[in-house]
Amino acid sequence: MSKLTDINYIKGVLSRHGFTFSKALGQNFLVNPTVCPKMAEMCGADEKTGVIEIGPGAGVLTNELAQRSYKVVAVELDKRLLPVLAETLSEHRNVTVINDDALKLDFHKLIREEFPEGDPVICANLPYYITSPILMRLLEERLPVRAITVMVQKEAADRICAAPGTRASGAISAAVHYYCEPEMLFRVSPGSFIPAPKVESAVIRLNILKEPPVRTADEKLFFKVVRASFLQRRKTLSNSLSAGLSKPKAEINEALAKAGIPANARAEEMTMQQFADITAALYCEP
Ligand code: SAM
Repeated sequence: MSKLTDINYIKGVLSRHGFTFSKALGQNFLVNPTVCPKMAEMCGADEKTGVIEIGPGAGVLTNELAQRSYKVVAVELDKRLLPVLAETLSEHRNVTVINDDALKLDFHKLIREEFPEGDPVICANLPYYITSPILMRLLEERLPVRAITVMVQKEAADRICAAPGTRASGAISAAVHYYCEPEMLFRVSPGSFIPAPKVESAVIRLNILKEPPVRTADEKLFFKVVRASFLQRRKTLSNSLSAGLSKPKAEINEALAKAGIPANARAEEMTMQQFADITAALYCEP
């Protein structure tokens, strides 16, 4: 059994390096010995599939990924963790740690240079303070990856996986369902981390779609419509769109009528096709 499944070993290494947890960087490290193997197993890493990990922390998940994949590239923002990772991952020759910000790094370049053999997968216990921006960045950039498996707050997981047109859906549900098929894998209790977060977490896998499920007149406008629709989720679609897109209500109501949608409908009732229909109705040929 690896030393990295032993909480006392991890605590010992961190303390020897004088490491203190940064709340601002979302540092809650996994110490439950069953969670990382399960996550690594389910993310699709294997001897032919490389992995990009975001935020390796002390390297507990990285260690599991390195045992299954031929290559792991881990992107860690916190410089203080580099000597920790050099120690905890010293026995793996197939791991590269990059000190960079996952919100700024050129992932296309990284994939081109590090994974010329074939599309990798992404696997991460995400820093919760940037869950949405990181996920949206990874998806919007249309990276050549097979799947993205991430641990996020349970509430965020529910929102991300909710099908558009259902009560739990939000702007991120529609955006995520445009690029992939999300799957809820399993829940993780707060006691699985040091320090323990206040809320439950969940692991989800986003299976990347080859084609979006709907055709849009204009992709940029489609996402503007989705974001504006959910801006004030208690209000009617007509009011939210008018405020969010800075357009007169009459124009919005005309577009909604053209799309066959009642003006008093709500964003959470809209399916992907209906968001695409609203986009088509608002679209003006350049
Ligand atoms: N993977 C480790 C684990 O599961 O124990 C640590 C997960 S911890 C929730 C999030 C990690 O992401 C931390 O190591 C933190 O320093 C790192 N991080 C935070 N912001 C980041 C960013 N913008 N880019 C890359 N890594 C980041």
